[in-house]
Amino acid sequence: MQVIHHGVTFETLQGDITAQPDCDAVVNAANAQLRSGGGVAGAIHRTAGPELERECAPLAPIRPGQAVITGAYKLPNKHVIHCLGPVYGRDKPAEQMLGNCYRNALQLADAQGLRSVAFPAISTGAFGYPLDEAASIAVGAAVETASGLKTVKLIRFVLFSTRDLQAHDRALQRVSE
Ligand code: ADP
Repeated sequence: MQVIHHGVTFETLQGDITAQPDCDAVVNAANAQLRSGGGVAGAIHRTAGPELERECAPLAPIRPGQAVITGAYKLPNKHVIHCLGPVYGRDKPAEQMLGNCYRNALQLADAQGLRSVAFPAISTGAFGYPLDEAASIAVGAAVETASGLKTVKLIRFVLFSTRDLQAHDRALQRVSE
């Protein structure tokens, strides 16, 4: 689905974060060491190639909620924005940390003059964040940040499964009511 808030288009779609060629940046659900791994981080590093890990190494470790930006190498984008989500049940306050991922990523993208950013559902895989709560936090933080953005005009949520897509659609519907 697609909705507009504060002049920014919010979009949800089912797909792969490494296959978003019309977005200036894709967000990585990173680990603290900014290395390859499972899930989103594995897919992003495999597609980007080994140069991405080389650029990441001096930027690590990052803290939960933090975001850093690099080149995208063999990905079809200009940049990758790496965010460390909270591990659910361990990193606290989890809600604030997860919201900070979206706020910080969007502010970094805007500071670089980027127009479009695609996010995966940070923390909802290996890090165990309950899906509906994570979707509300993600959408809420992105919509709230949008009012202060100058260049970012498209924020896309890329969800792997139908269930994930539906949770984000519901969250986007709630902020639109
Ligand atoms: P985290 O460690 O932050 O929980 P994960 O990468 O384990 O991050 O998972 C985050 C979400 O991204 C999960 O819903 C997972 O199914 C999904 N996912 C995994 N691979 C991809 C991909 N290539 N594109 C989009 N979403 C993905």
